[in-house]
Order: sequence, then C-alpha cells, then structure tokens
Amino acid sequence: MCRDCANPLDALLHRRAVLAGLGALGLAACATNPETGRSQLILVDDAQMGQLALEAWAQQLHRTPRWNNPSAQQRLERIGRRIAAGANRPNEAWEFVLFDRPDLNAFVLPGGKVGFYRGLWELAQGDDEIATVLGHEVGHVTGRHAAERYSREVAQQSALRAAGAVTNNQVALAALGLGATVGLSLPFSRDQESEADRLGINYMHAAGFAPRAAISFWTRMQAQRGARPPQFLSTHPDPANRVAALGAYINERGWGPV
Ligand SMILES: [Zn+2]
Repeated sequence: MCRDCANPLDALLHRRAVLAGLGALGLAACATNPETGRSQLILVDDAQMGQLALEAWAQQLHRTPRWNNPSAQQRLERIGRRIAAGANRPNEAWEFVLFDRPDLNAFVLPGGKVGFYRGLWELAQGDDEIATVLGHEVGHVTGRHAAERYSREVAQQSALRAAGAVTNNQVALAALGLGATVGLSLPFSRDQESEADRLGINYMHAAGFAPRAAISFWTRMQAQRGARPPQFLSTHPDPANRVAALGAYINERGWGPV
C-alpha cells in the first residue's frame, strides 16, 4: 500500500522540503506519538501538513476520475467511518473516495483524505478485507507518517547544505546529527508500513472487524504481486514477511490464532 509513486502528496512534499530547507529546522523537535509511544522528529505542524494535503487532494480529484459506483462508494465510507471511530478519530475530516483506476493500491493524506483504487477494491473480499486496507491507511494518519517523512526530507536537504557552509550553530548540529540517518531512508519507510499494519489491526479489532482478514488479504496481494518491481521491493516489507509479522502480532494480541 502507499507506493510512493501513488501518493500525490509526495511530489508536493519533495518540492516543499527543498524550499523549506534550513529555516524549518528552527522548529526542530522530537515528539512522542501517544498512539505508538514512539519518539518522532517532527519539523512541521499539523496545520501546515493539512494545508499541503488539501492541495494534493484537490490535484488528485482533478486528475483522476472517481469510480461511478454509488453502492461501492457508500460501502467504503461506511467501513471507513467505523475504522475512524475504532481509531478514536471520528471527528477528523475524513473523506473516502473510490477512484476508477486498475491499480492495486490505496493512499491516505494527513487530515484524513483516503483514496482507494478500483483494482484494489475488486481484489478485496468482504468488509473485513476492505477494513484491513482502511485500518492501514488510518494508521499512517495516527502514526503521523507524512509529517515524519517530510521532516526527514527537510533534515536531509539541510544536512547537505550545512556540510558545505554553516557548521557552527544549532541548525547545523541538528542537521549533521540527522545527516547520519540519510542512508536509512528506505528501511525507515518499511518501518512505517509495518507500524501502519499493526495500528490497522488494532483499529479493525476496535471497530468489530476480524483482524485475521489481514492475513487472507495480504496473502492474495502477495500472489498478485509475484513479479514486484524493484521500487516496491525496496520500499515495502517483503510480502511473505509481512503476512508472518501480521500473524504473529494478531496472535500476540490474543485475536488469533491465525
Ligand atoms: Zn502504507
């Protein structure tokens, strides 16, 4: 889910990160996410991310046709709202939209705009599997993954500049400290995917869906993606590992056995 090329926010983020550069590092801060207990580098506030997300969402709606299938659209919204409530985020400005493309993909933008492609919809079997996808996407929101990715991008851009110019102030120290993580970008992305998987399982359970549906869904995805392109391989958990990790997590929570 959430291949980088599928997310309209990423292109915007990339450009903005370059523009934000060192200035944004003045806001450098680590924040503990109460949803995960994990400390994250966050260099951007939620209002800024929300504004970027709205721009990206408007572009997506302009460029990509919606799928004219009212019953499917209603079903998506119904399941989405249950998952959002399961995540204790019922009041976020959620929007769940089916797009008419054959892609096996879905994406989410900060603030709660969720795009779901027809191809993935047709692959998913039953409400519980649709809830698997939506739980994962909502997990990216509550995990603040876009803000975190944005922050890392800004930090990396700044580190590159600081290495050749400013080296003796707080900004440069922050940048160079962060610069050491440049080589870890891809594994970090895989960690976010795994975290979204686990959060999604929690939300499915809280909303009354069957977490075990994640196993059947990802197993089918694995079969579909037998010949995965290198980009998918490098930025996502290996599908077999993903199914194994999900199974272990579901059993650990006492929601199995799977
Ligand atoms: Zn994802």
